[in-house]
Amino acid sequence: MRKLIQLKLSAEEYNNETFLKRQISKVSNIDLSFLSFKIMKESLDCRKVPLYNLSVVCSNNNDLPNNKPLPFLDVRNSSEILVVGAGPCGLTAALRLIQKGLKPIIIERGKPVEERKQDIALICRNQDVNTESNFCFGEGGAGAFSDGKLYTRSNKKGNIDDVLSLLVHFGADEKILRQTHAHIGTDKLSSILKNIRQTIINCGGEYLFETKVEDLILKDNTVIGVKTSEGEEIFAHKTILATGHSARDIYQLFYDNNWEIQSKPFAVGVRVEHPQELINQIQYHSANYSPLLPPATYSLTFNNGNRGVFSFCMCPGGIVVPAMDYQGMMSVNGMSNSSRSGEKANSAIVVSVTEEDAARYHSYGALSLMKLQQEWEEKLYINKQIAPAQRISDFLQKRTSSTLCSSSYMPGLMSVNLSNELPDFISENLALGFKSFDRKMKGFITEEALLIGLESRTSSPVRIPRKADLQHTQLKNLYPCGEGAGYAGGITSSALDGINTADKIASELGV
Ligand SMILES: Cc1cc2nc3c(=O)[nH]c(=O)nc-3n(C[C@H](O)[C@H](O)[C@H](O)COP(=O)(O)OP(=O)(O)OC[C@H]3O[C@@H](n4cnc5c(N)ncnc54)[C@H](O)[C@@H]3O)c2cc1C
Repeated sequence: MRKLIQLKLSAEEYNNETFLKRQISKVSNIDLSFLSFKIMKESLDCRKVPLYNLSVVCSNNNDLPNNKPLPFLDVRNSSEILVVGAGPCGLTAALRLIQKGLKPIIIERGKPVEERKQDIALICRNQDVNTESNFCFGEGGAGAFSDGKLYTRSNKKGNIDDVLSLLVHFGADEKILRQTHAHIGTDKLSSILKNIRQTIINCGGEYLFETKVEDLILKDNTVIGVKTSEGEEIFAHKTILATGHSARDIYQLFYDNNWEIQSKPFAVGVRVEHPQELINQIQYHSANYSPLLPPATYSLTFNNGNRGVFSFCMCPGGIVVPAMDYQGMMSVNGMSNSSRSGEKANSAIVVSVTEEDAARYHSYGALSLMKLQQEWEEKLYINKQIAPAQRISDFLQKRTSSTLCSSSYMPGLMSVNLSNELPDFISENLALGFKSFDRKMKGFITEEALLIGLESRTSSPVRIPRKADLQHTQLKNLYPCGEGAGYAGGITSSALDGINTADKIASELGV
């Protein structure tokens, strides 16, 4: 017999296994000697004294639910589907194709994750950026060297457990299945990616690394294959396009060929970095918070009329990273390891940007916002990966910081008056946002907090539109999906979009 119970526990109670078992036995009324249980949902409520809210399934006959993914089939002799891009979207699409008995051929411009790691280390040491192997491009896509946060608001797009159980199957901690704010961490993501690759290859799928798709091959408005940077033509019945939002060349390809694309609002701002200890004290309402609590997070929003200012991709105990994909531009992001044990907390704080802001690029039509994004990234460039930075207190006073506080950003910082360098509407709205955030989190504005620019790759500035059957509105047998198509934002929603796309293809092919 199964029972579902709810518990509210302090960090000490939650981390005491004996207490936890006894409490579950007491509330479920199942004797300890027969009790088996599984925590289904776990969230931390920090509105007052921090408390864990747990939903627990209990059983007296070991009859507990389990989330095993569907089996992976041998697809050596199956119909071939091209998957362009090995980010979260392309990889989950490939895995689901295999589960449905179809053979994915993955075409990825970047390198396998082991080799990519070396290029990323060079970028962090302020060496030259490899345009095909960096924080944006390579196996695992933009999700590989990230915080690995797995929460999404896209619950309606599908079953998030499908994504999480795949990750667990390939090596992620089972806890992610229950945590409202689950994350994996960069240190764990590489081995998960290697396990995924091994399964795809063992099942008969193919991986083509360091192969960039440069054109689509059409026959009467139907995509029948792709042309690669090597001049090779690869044909298949259907093509999944999961190239992410940094593949500007793909947007340009659509634009140059008059294939339908649309501009899409996005957001731009800065990374703010605080001491993690300060964020813990603010969020846990005390300097004497339990050492068993995880590094605290926050999520903040402010509206100035139609203009939104919001925190995004908050990385507790993480580092700020140089996320540019070519030399001559500035773009930062955040990542962390699974332990999130770094001394700093960082988060993007960004301002919404709409088509009206890109009036001077209107002649570029659907690319107008992308052109604006590129202009700002290039304007903030200093030298290699050196990033412009300013104390938040100085930013509000519109003065250059005479000294900068310590930072996790490895390539190096230069003191710059960001309020002059950013477009006025971004600076002004950031300032309003910071003041509002300081009212919600007393101490958010402090000498110890650093702003680092530019946070520009928050979401896609272009949409590649598709119909209800997920095919491009104009090009048949082409399935634009994931963040680059403008239908997802973040690891989990992009991965879900990949699964949905593969399901659609499978049902159309009747498998
Ligand atoms: C540093 C960093 C930290 C992040 N942290 C988080 C986080 O904690 N949580 C979260 O939810 N999101 C995070 N994100 C965002 C998240 O990574 C993306 O939303 C997600 O990866 C999008 O998935 P995708 O598969 O649609 O695209 P991408 O991950 O961008 O993958 C696209 C892939 O396509 C390849 N590609 C592009 N063009 C071509 C071409 N022409 N030919 C062949 N291959 C091509 C690229 O090399 C890339 O591998 C982070 C991003 C960064 C950069």
